[in-house]
Amino acid sequence: MVNTKIIRQRESLPVFPYRQEIVDAIKNEPLLVVIGETGSGKTTQIPQYILESFPEYRLIGVTQPRRIAAITVANRVSEEHGSRLGDDIGYCIRFDDCTSSRTRLKYMTDGVLLREATIDPRLGHYDAIIVDEAHERTLETDVLFGLLKETHRLRPELKILVMSATLNVEKFSDFFNSCPIFVIPGRTYDVAINHHRDAKISSLKSTYVQRSVETALYIHTQEPPGDILVFLTGQNEIEKACRDLEDLDRDLNYKTDVKYYEDVKGLVIYPIYATLETMEQKAIFDDPPRYTRKVVFATNVAQTSVTIPGIKYVIDSGFVKQKTYDPTTGMDALLVVPISQAAATQRAGRAGRTASGQAFRLYSRESYEQMEADTVPEIQRSSLLGTVLSLKKMGINDIINFEFIDPPDPAMVKNALKQLFLLEAIDDTGKLTTLGNEMSIFPLSPFLSRVLIASARQYECSREVVIIVAMLSVEEIFITPRNVEKQMDADEKRKEFYHPSGDHMMLLNIFEKFRDSGYGRDWCRDKYFNYRALSMAKSIRDQLRELMEKHDLPLVSCRLKNYQVKDDGRQRKKRRNSYQDVKYNVETMLESFSSSYYINLAKRHPHRPVFYHYASATGPGSESIDSNSSLLALHISPTSALHPDNKVVRVDDLDWVTYHSVLYTNKALMKVVSKVKLEWVQERLGLFKKLAVANLDGSYGKSKSENNMHGNTDEDNDNKVDSVMIDAQ
Ligand code: ADP
Ligand code: MG
Repeated sequence: MVNTKIIRQRESLPVFPYRQEIVDAIKNEPLLVVIGETGSGKTTQIPQYILESFPEYRLIGVTQPRRIAAITVANRVSEEHGSRLGDDIGYCIRFDDCTSSRTRLKYMTDGVLLREATIDPRLGHYDAIIVDEAHERTLETDVLFGLLKETHRLRPELKILVMSATLNVEKFSDFFNSCPIFVIPGRTYDVAINHHRDAKISSLKSTYVQRSVETALYIHTQEPPGDILVFLTGQNEIEKACRDLEDLDRDLNYKTDVKYYEDVKGLVIYPIYATLETMEQKAIFDDPPRYTRKVVFATNVAQTSVTIPGIKYVIDSGFVKQKTYDPTTGMDALLVVPISQAAATQRAGRAGRTASGQAFRLYSRESYEQMEADTVPEIQRSSLLGTVLSLKKMGINDIINFEFIDPPDPAMVKNALKQLFLLEAIDDTGKLTTLGNEMSIFPLSPFLSRVLIASARQYECSREVVIIVAMLSVEEIFITPRNVEKQMDADEKRKEFYHPSGDHMMLLNIFEKFRDSGYGRDWCRDKYFNYRALSMAKSIRDQLRELMEKHDLPLVSCRLKNYQVKDDGRQRKKRRNSYQDVKYNVETMLESFSSSYYINLAKRHPHRPVFYHYASATGPGSESIDSNSSLLALHISPTSALHPDNKVVRVDDLDWVTYHSVLYTNKALMKVVSKVKLEWVQERLGLFKKLAVANLDGSYGKSKSENNMHGNTDEDNDNKVDSVMIDAQ
């Protein structure tokens, strides 16, 4: 079906006049960098040009740094192409594959392609690979660059395209053998930049959400028609901003309060963040009703990945949520940090897409001048645990000398190696172990892969543990109602799922009751659970089970044999384990988790409800943490069943806990906490001592030619059909 509106829109994009030139360049060049302003049509058009001009190409892969971008763009492009999503054009993100055997254009996260490359370094299914949004420099994109260079050596006929907004592009060309750069001339309009008179960015952290809302209201009431895009950092604050602005709008008397009342008679407000349902997103791209102004509160996804039409005003909070390595825990934490100047420029540019516009920065010019010029690439600020494991799996042992566009800090590589050693994924010479090889089967963090394998091979509880692992792999499952009464109701209802051992069992409880409800949407609504997250957990459980089956990992239940349901429905069994759980052998499940999370073991302060991280690279901590005040105090998150206020257990009964992650608010909060016994982990703690003598980077000295990408391909061929992939959360 030919849709003339869509044709006109496609032909009006800045990239359109260069269609033939681009196709010719691709014909002639195996490696090509394409740059163009955000919104010029790179992501949606160039893959289609290739699809239409090279009918002999079997499969074209396009990577996106964000899941939401992969989905939205694939949706849009299949609509432009006049086909159903999943037919000619599809997408694939971790745990969600929407492609078919007919698919020739596949949008995917960079993590998905990275995982495919782990399995087949030649990327034999593809005739063209496009690494899009290269300027974002995600960890996965950076690793892909190194791998693709090798793939190019192996398969010079594979077309490799790198697409980027106009930032630092020479670097990409230099890296890819000084390949040509195709520049799409931009069409941008002037953007007037308004800085706040004196607000220092450091002082805005607690107020930028409120100030964004006030600024949006100011623009709405005082400025001519035109839509507003507001950059915030995450789901919670975006939803709060939407509600606050709605409230303010409700109180407006348009006739008296709104200066351009003739043309501005209403407001529509949309959120956009990484986990929003696609249906909701579609409306964001539509024109608002006549005489209505549209306001979009967005995360960084709207900075360069997704272009929202009609934006005339940009409000820049100055902040972004960024993955940052936390040396205390050895894990990544998401922290809200000031943006770079390059990001501020990109954000402002969103206001000048179709006409001249204005940007309102909530921070002063002085603060702008003090910002970092560029965002530090993710590879230099995040945990490399999964990356190093993937590279090892590909037979690349010499990580330090791997061809990175910007190499990671060697200390971070060493840290990743240490953690992999503690997880027994590599041995004391840095070589991948059988266990490590098995761990890379799963598109999960190595921590969770290890747990899953332990539950199947050692502790005989994999049928339950796979559920908990799936629950730990989804976005927030609890809905936080705004209304105080509802909040109390939600808190009350949550009690039903508490378990005295802690949060891992609570997650299992929730999932089982969800299952008992027939995976009901209404049940979720009643209990204040996020239906989409729980449904996703079900799907992930199914996919993980399939992988386990395929790799001969037994699915065993730890349901207790003498557990029975009495006629009156009450449950009963002999007390068999210390948690007096009537149904399961809880200890075995928690022992499975301890096989990885002993690394996150915390010991309680003798007199206070505060915990301290127990073991570090120097070995298990001192028994008398009392005297060691330099240790970071860890608190149990209020959302945990074990938080003292929830009165599920007495704090005195908690001596040792493990935690899944740490969230930094004004305190360091342990999330997903369970009570453990020291005896479960004592033996493993010995690995910390062995770390001191291990020669994990023993392979550093090797020459480059010893890196062999085919290291494991023979046995990997079996894995090719795997459809679930790693990607950034
Ligand atoms: P680039 O990759 O160069 O930033 P895109 O190809 O993403 O550009 O976008 C080109 C144009 O297509 C933009 O102007 C945008 O408004 C439009 N567009 C992209 N996605 C959608 C969508 N889902 N619905 C409507 N328009 C869209
Ligand atoms: Mg793009």
